Amino acid sequence: MRRSENRLNLDTAKIDAKNAEAYRLRSFDPDRAQKICNDTLSNSKQLGYRRGEADALRTLGTLVSQQDRKAGFDYAERAVTIYREIGDEYGECSALMTLSLYYHHKGLFHRAHMVLTEAHEKATRSGNLYVSGIALFNLGVNAEEREDLLKALEYFEHAKVAAERGANDTIFWASTIAVASTSFELGGNESDLEALRTALVSLMEAGSYNNAIDACLAIAKISFANGQTLPALLSLRKGMRIAVDNQRPYMIWALQHFRGKLQFQRGRPLSAKRAYKAALRTARVSGNRVQESKTMEQLAEVYRNLGNAEKAFDMLHEQIALKREIFSEDSERRLREMQSIHQVQLVEAESRLLKSKNVELAAINDRLEMALREREQLQQELERMATIDELTGVLNRRRILAIGTDFVARFHAQGRPGVVLVVDIDNFKSINDNYGHPVGDEVLRRFTQSCQRVLRPTDFLGRLGGEEFCILLDRTDMEIAHRVAERVLASIRTTRVDDLMTDRIVTASIGMSEVKKHHDTIATVLHDADLGLYEAKRTGRDRMCIGKPEKPKAA
Ligand code: GH3
Ligand code: MG
Ligand code: MG
Repeated sequence: MRRSENRLNLDTAKIDAKNAEAYRLRSFDPDRAQKICNDTLSNSKQLGYRRGEADALRTLGTLVSQQDRKAGFDYAERAVTIYREIGDEYGECSALMTLSLYYHHKGLFHRAHMVLTEAHEKATRSGNLYVSGIALFNLGVNAEEREDLLKALEYFEHAKVAAERGANDTIFWASTIAVASTSFELGGNESDLEALRTALVSLMEAGSYNNAIDACLAIAKISFANGQTLPALLSLRKGMRIAVDNQRPYMIWALQHFRGKLQFQRGRPLSAKRAYKAALRTARVSGNRVQESKTMEQLAEVYRNLGNAEKAFDMLHEQIALKREIFSEDSERRLREMQSIHQVQLVEAESRLLKSKNVELAAINDRLEMALREREQLQQELERMATIDELTGVLNRRRILAIGTDFVARFHAQGRPGVVLVVDIDNFKSINDNYGHPVGDEVLRRFTQSCQRVLRPTDFLGRLGGEEFCILLDRTDMEIAHRVAERVLASIRTTRVDDLMTDRIVTASIGMSEVKKHHDTIATVLHDADLGLYEAKRTGRDRMCIGKPEKPKAA
C-alpha cells in the first residue's frame, strides 16, 4: 500500500517536471514540447492525475494555437475546466490567456476583455506575475481596439510596472513602446518619440524583433502626426525590413495598413491603394479576417476617393458579407458554448460584469451605432452613385441591363411577358452642333422627364449611353406596349424647349421587341429592338417600329 503510494508520487512528480520542461520549451522547440505534452497527457489520464492533465492541455493549447486557433482554443478550454475543478487559479489564468487571444483574433473584443479581466484577477490572486503582466498588456491592446485610449494607457502603465516586477523583458519593452505611442496619440510630445528611438536600439540589440517592429510603427505614427512624412515612411520601411529579415510575416500587416492610411491622408490615393492591397493580401494569407475586413473598409474609401464608386460599392458589399459571416459564426459558437457547464459559469460572470459595466457599455454602444449609421449613409450614397446616371438621374447602363437580365430570366422561368424599348433622340447631333453641348445636356434631362411622366410605376427607364435610352415594360404584352410607346412619343414631342432653341421640337424614334423563347440574354432582345429602331429611323423618325428578328434558318 505504502509502496504504491510512493510510486504514484514519484510518477506525478515526473509528470510535473516534464510538463514544466514542455512549457519552457514551447517557444524554442515547439515540436519537442508538443511531443512531451502528448506523453504527459496520456500518462496523467492513466494515473487519474488531473493537474498533470490540465498542465499538458494548457501548453498544448498555446502550441496548437499557432497553426489552428480553434483547436488551440479547445485544448485551453478543457484545461480551464480541470483547473476549476481542482481550484488551481495559477494554472487557470494562463489557459484563460489562450481563450482571450482566440476571441481577440476573431474581433470579439468585448468577450476577450471579460476573459482577460478574469485571467488578470486570478493571476494576481495566485501570484502568477508572468501572466498578470501579459494580461494587463493585452487588456491595453484590447482597450485600444475599442478605441478607449485613456483606458489603454492606464493598462499599459500597469503592465510596465508588473513586467518589471515579474522580470518579463518582452512585456516590459512592449509596454514601454505602447505607453509612449498611446500617450502621444493622446496629445504627448517629442520626448515620447525619443523614448521610442532609445527603446528601438535596445530591442534590436536584444533580438526582440516583434517589439522592434512595433516601435518602428509607433515612431512612424508619431512622426506622421508631427507632419514629418518622410521619417514616417522611412520608419515603416525599417520595420518592414526587420520583419522580412527575421521572418515575422504576421507583423507586416500593421505596417502596410498604416502605410495606406498615411498615403491616403497626404493625398496619394494611388499609393494608398497599393499599400492597402498589399495589406489585404497579407491578411488573407494569414487568414486573419478581422484585419481583412478592416482593410477592405479602407480600400473602399480609397476607391470612392478615386471616383470609382462601383468598385467601392463592391468592396463594401464584400466587407459587410465578411462581417456578417464572422458574426454568424460567433452566434453559432455561443449557442454551443452555452451548453457546456464551464461556459455557463463564464456567461454568468459575464452578465455580472456586464451589469457593473453598463455605463461604459452604453457609451461603447452609442459609438458603435453612430459608426454603423454613418456607414449605412455612405453605403446608400454609394449605391445611388453605382446605379444612377449622373446627368439625367435615370438608371445607368449597368443597372438597367441588370434588370433586363432579370426580365429574361423570369420570362424563361415563369413565362412572365415583358417588352423592351430602345429610344433614340432624333438628330440630336445637330442640337449639339447648333446650340452647344450644355443645351444638349439640358435637352437630355427634359427628355427623360417627358418619358418618365407617362411611364407606369412598374416600368424602368435607363440610359444606355449618349442619347440612347432603354425602357423595360414588365408583365406587358405587345398590345399594351404599343400604347405605352405611343404615349412616350407624344410626350417627347411636347417637351418644352422653346427657352433653349428656336424653331425646334424634340422627337425620338423607338424600336421595340418582346422577350421571346430564342432570347437567351438581354443583349439579344436589345439587338432585335435595335432592328426596329433602325427601321423607324429609315422610314422618317418620330415613330415606333417592332424589331423583326431575321428568320431562323430552317433545319
Ligand atoms: P439620329 O436621328 O440618326 O439618331 O441622329 P443623331 O444625330 O441623334 O445620331 P448620332 O448618334 O450621330 O448623334 C448622337 C450625338 O449625341 C453625338 C454626340 O455628340 C451626342 N452626345 C452623346 N452623349 C452626349 C451627352 O452626354 N451630352 C450631349 N450634349 N451630347 C451627347
Ligand atoms: Mg439619335
Ligand atoms: Mg444614337
